[in-house]
Amino acid sequence: MLEERVRALAARLTDELVRAVRESLASEVEALVRAATRGGARLRLGGPGDARIGKQPVPVRCPVPGCTSPGVRARRNFCPEHGAALTDAERRALRGEAAPRGASRGRKRAR
Ligand SMILES: [Zn+2]
Repeated sequence: MLEERVRALAARLTDELVRAVRESLASEVEALVRAATRGGARLRLGGPGDARIGKQPVPVRCPVPGCTSPGVRARRNFCPEHGAALTDAERRALRGEAAPRGASRGRKRAR
């Protein structure tokens, strides 16, 4: 029967495909792990071996002259007090940054 032959062929093809995908996946994963561990070292992303766990945050100084409070990196290094008290333009000026294009037209954003 033709149908049976086609079915057998399809089954063989499927097996072959699964094997090929499995093999290429395995070597891809292996290459990724090797790259991530830079040869030899244990993979340390998440879990108890993660090198980021327990690290002290990088200390930063508030850019406001005379301010002794520690800055917060998520607030562009400003301390919480100054980060809330200053406007965007003032903070940019203190950091020596240029105003973004269109800043003079207000805070509206072009669509
Ligand atoms: Zn400050």
